Amino acid sequence: MCGGIAIGKLSVYRKEDSPVRCAKADDTEAELERFAKARDMAERQLAALREKAQRQAGAAGAAIFEVHQMMLKDPEYTDAVTGMISSGGVNAEYAVAAVGEHFAEMFAAMDEAYMRERAADVKDISSRVNAVLRGTVQRQPKEKGPVILLADDLAPGETVQLDKSLVLSFVTRRGSTGSHTAILARAMNIPALAGVDFPEGGEEEPEGKTGIVDGYGGVLYIDPDGETLKKFKSLQKEEEEQTRLLQEMRGKENITPDGRKIDLCANISGVADVEDAIAGDAGGIGLFRSEFLYLESAGYPDEETQFAAYRTVAEKMKGKRVVIRTMDIGADKQADYFGIGKEANPAMGYRAIRICLDRRELFKTQLRAIYRAGVYGAVAVMFPMIISMAEIRQIKAIIAEVKAELEREGIPYGRDIKTGIMIETPAAVMISDQLAEEVDFFSVGTNDLTQYTLAIDRQNPMLDHIYDPHHEAVLRMIRIAVENGHKRGCRVGICGELAADTTMTETFLRMGVDELSVAPSMILKVREKIRNTDLSAGRDGTAGAAE
Ligand code: PEP
Ligand code: MG
Repeated sequence: MCGGIAIGKLSVYRKEDSPVRCAKADDTEAELERFAKARDMAERQLAALREKAQRQAGAAGAAIFEVHQMMLKDPEYTDAVTGMISSGGVNAEYAVAAVGEHFAEMFAAMDEAYMRERAADVKDISSRVNAVLRGTVQRQPKEKGPVILLADDLAPGETVQLDKSLVLSFVTRRGSTGSHTAILARAMNIPALAGVDFPEGGEEEPEGKTGIVDGYGGVLYIDPDGETLKKFKSLQKEEEEQTRLLQEMRGKENITPDGRKIDLCANISGVADVEDAIAGDAGGIGLFRSEFLYLESAGYPDEETQFAAYRTVAEKMKGKRVVIRTMDIGADKQADYFGIGKEANPAMGYRAIRICLDRRELFKTQLRAIYRAGVYGAVAVMFPMIISMAEIRQIKAIIAEVKAELEREGIPYGRDIKTGIMIETPAAVMISDQLAEEVDFFSVGTNDLTQYTLAIDRQNPMLDHIYDPHHEAVLRMIRIAVENGHKRGCRVGICGELAADTTMTETFLRMGVDELSVAPSMILKVREKIRNTDLSAGRDGTAGAAE
């Protein structure tokens, strides 16, 4: 599902559900620090849950989280944990679990029913702190050095925690081409396969064996014979040669032989990807998937953390456009601390702008960080999953509030931040004439637009063969959005995976799309295609009219 060839050792990734182990701490101070940080994070999670429960269930619903907050702050509990780390020289996870058990037993033995009930609560807070401690620990494959990672499934939150320099390729039993794990693989410029079964355990256990991932043919080879290995090594060499040749495209304009220009930007998921965007010769950042900041964190990232990330990206791009998309949490991008819970239809559920308009404080924190970062570069803000004018009106009112607050507080912010929306629902396409009056730009999200137009869950591997972004219905949707946008002076780009599909470059150029935003590793390839596409010749090489 993601092209390319990887050859290397196989390693099976298993989820971290093992019991907490007692380990000797080499650095007690560091363990104390880890505990303090995890406790702070757990405290923030509880505050958020309390606020949510208060809104949804009133004071009674919020009471339990209040009790947990109090317990977490209780010096007796904290001192017991820190005391055990210092005097016992053990790891923070073990101290937290052991103290939790000890206090739970104490409560359980009490006469008063109310106190006995607290036994479950103290266990609960210990589990919460431990989840933070273990969640922030990177879960890495067993093999040392870069590996082909085999997993049942990889959630985006797990994928981002992996040390990317140690992964040659992903192969998952579940997941699909349109999933965010596949998108991340493309961003990392490594091959990835989904919906591939592989043996586990016994004679067949792949762990440590040599493997080949053929991203073009969609095949995983375990323990290949010499002949196969030789064939793929030579194909890999050819690939490297092609990549080398593409370097000639660096520094060149994105212009067709007959003079049509288009902007080519990069999609990124975090600060670390900016270097790839610069190395790939991106004209800007067309999509910063800010939700990955939330997925990498064990609790809501605060304003300062977000501001630092957005500012760094803006500064590194040195005045080039940086489009920050407000967080698109929900569906497959779940962070536990949001407490979204199970939904029957997550792709059509509580996600993205719907959460932001429901949890205003969360939204305002992110907007404040984005607007403040606007002082350091050409920052623009974009909103995902838009379906109505009412949403735009609410967003605008909240932006006005945020600006007024920053003004009052004397905090500098970007005064000319352009606003845009993702066009990724059929609803947005159909009212794109109205929406275009309200915003500066559109960015077509073909991944979701395909999912919603064709009514195909982009995560479902059983439907991968009919999940078709080239479907005439999707292409017509894109055309409508471009035409409606342009009639009203609204810039229109494409940032879904289809933007990097060079079989579509000519179509997009003929439609008059203003910008394509693609994985950093795809920029030079798309540029080469643009520079070789003569629009003055017709599609059959004759006539020559624009579409
Ligand atoms: C899209 O839907 O095309 C898009 C760019 O957003 P995401 O893939 O993050 O949902
Ligand atoms: Mg989307």
